Amino acid sequence: MKSSRSLFILIFTVASIFTIQTACAQDRAWHPEDTEFYEPVPPVVRAVPAFLTPPDDAVILFDGSDFSNWTSVRGGDVEWELENGVMTVNPGSGNIVTTEAFGSVQLYLEWRTPAEIIGDGQGRGNSGVFLQRRYEVQILDSYENETYVNGMAGSIYKQYVPYVNAAMPPGEWQSYNIIFEAPLFSENGNVEKPGFLTVFWNGVLVHHNAELEGPTRYIGLPEYSAHGDDGIMLQDHGDLVSFRNIWLRKLDESPVWGE
Ligand code: MG
Repeated sequence: MKSSRSLFILIFTVASIFTIQTACAQDRAWHPEDTEFYEPVPPVVRAVPAFLTPPDDAVILFDGSDFSNWTSVRGGDVEWELENGVMTVNPGSGNIVTTEAFGSVQLYLEWRTPAEIIGDGQGRGNSGVFLQRRYEVQILDSYENETYVNGMAGSIYKQYVPYVNAAMPPGEWQSYNIIFEAPLFSENGNVEKPGFLTVFWNGVLVHHNAELEGPTRYIGLPEYSAHGDDGIMLQDHGDLVSFRNIWLRKLDESPVWGE
């Protein structure tokens, strides 16, 4: 009798510890640095970006003339600077997002970090391009600028490190050519198919079919929640990052894509 009681206490204790540990794993207080990695460091590749002219089936998002395809995420007009066909983040004015929502796309854009180096790490030329407002391909001045490698330019923020560092020096134009396969959700909200990203940075492949784990997050682990088509978003991270020549092609409209 005594031994069966001891056994019960033992089982109860083990079960309690397991339950508490599981609860702690779910509820743990995440800090940003918990999801930041410094190795392996991608090798440097000196690339010469070839800038692309949009093909005739492209949706032009920004050709340098105006912000007509964009709105502030805070509502209302974009308050970024527009000069000589180039848009530049107006620090503190907020992110901007396309007025139209998109699914799977080929997205092309050109970006430039400031010629004058101000700050370091994540504070040097930080912006970002978000697919469906949720999935960030990081923009940063990553030319001889150390930071966590899953947050450098070309990273899928805090999910994937770029294969190589194809950064141009500060003040020079760079390009992203991105193939985004939007995630699909079933009617009950479950992930039917995760999202995927392929990214060319200055013409160099840095991700091939990277499976998204969920929206890219600064703090904590990514986790999907169901959503539909959404806009392309550019980040105001407080730095004077510029953009030009932004266009995309809608892949969902191809009768062959997704077959
Ligand atoms: Mg960013």
